[in-house]
Amino acid sequence: MPDYLDTIKPVVRALKPYSLAVNDAPIKLNQNENPFGLPPRIKEESIRRFMDMDWGRYPDFVPTALMDKLSAHAAWTPEGIIVGNGSNEILNAVFAVTVAKGEKVLLSEPTFAIYRQTATVFDAEVVSVPLTADFEHDTPALRRAIEQYQPVVTVICSPNNPTGNVITERDLKSLLEVARGLVVLDEAYWEFAGHTFVSLMNEHPNLIVTRTFSKALALAALRVGYLMSAPALATEIRKAVLPYNINRFSQIVAETALEHYDAELAPLVARILTERCRVFDLLSGIEGIAPHPTHANFTLTRTTRLSPRRLYDELFARDILVRDVSGNPMLKSYIRIGVGTPEETDALVEALKSIHHF
Ligand code: PMP
Repeated sequence: MPDYLDTIKPVVRALKPYSLAVNDAPIKLNQNENPFGLPPRIKEESIRRFMDMDWGRYPDFVPTALMDKLSAHAAWTPEGIIVGNGSNEILNAVFAVTVAKGEKVLLSEPTFAIYRQTATVFDAEVVSVPLTADFEHDTPALRRAIEQYQPVVTVICSPNNPTGNVITERDLKSLLEVARGLVVLDEAYWEFAGHTFVSLMNEHPNLIVTRTFSKALALAALRVGYLMSAPALATEIRKAVLPYNINRFSQIVAETALEHYDAELAPLVARILTERCRVFDLLSGIEGIAPHPTHANFTLTRTTRLSPRRLYDELFARDILVRDVSGNPMLKSYIRIGVGTPEETDALVEALKSIHHF
């Protein structure tokens, strides 16, 4: 019998699947979602529109209505926007149209694990520049790596998952100036940092910005993300995106969410930012726990009394799910905690204080 698994590329066979161990607990602080959920007004309006839509028909070939709303929301031309089934899907499309076997993809790590995973599946050679000891992007080292390795794609996550640090405009420009390949800026958490580098795409046509509806926009269940780039680049990347990649239901909810962004969602972002300060102060006051300053809706937190694994287990036993990121050699004593509701923060703090007495 031939071993059909031999048909799988060795780089893929060698990969560990991206997975999440447990995905449910009453207090879920492990996936950086919006803890307040989608406002009822957006849900109700979306359901009304579902009733009016023709369920038996394909959606529009190009989701024009959503792209126009995104264009207004993000201040970028609709010709340069690609909507995806989550932003991960679009990143896949970027790698699909750029990476040929053995070409380099540059990452600033630790960062979102999916970049390495998908680049590897596309047969890229991943070159990694470590964050500095303070978990900042190491711009001089990234610049040198760009010059030395000529990566076809460089991915910068800002705010970075799981460290919460941002890249400055000056630093990003200095990378764009030397890069002959593309620079993908993942702005999945940009609402929590309060700034965006979308306008830099005007001067730097090698910049691509990706974003998601899964975090601030409270739509993780519906899988919507988008990419912005120069229109000519978007035309090429679209060739790797399957037709009808986002279903009409998700399009409708995403459109409705954007229509009500200012009235319904921006206030939730403001509440998350208030809560971020509060959780940071409270965690700082607990012995053995040290939160790292963050520009996102989560905080990388050092645990000195218990191992991250043990802390994860103790919190899980108290109905709280956090992310153990200690598998990364630079994050051996860290967990990542999402910003929850005030009640969830209270429960977290109470749980941590009770574990401390163990
Ligand atoms: N980018 C980053 C940096 C993320 O942390 C995540 C989710 N954890 C995503 C993208 C995924 O976004 P989506 O749900 O749109 O695929």
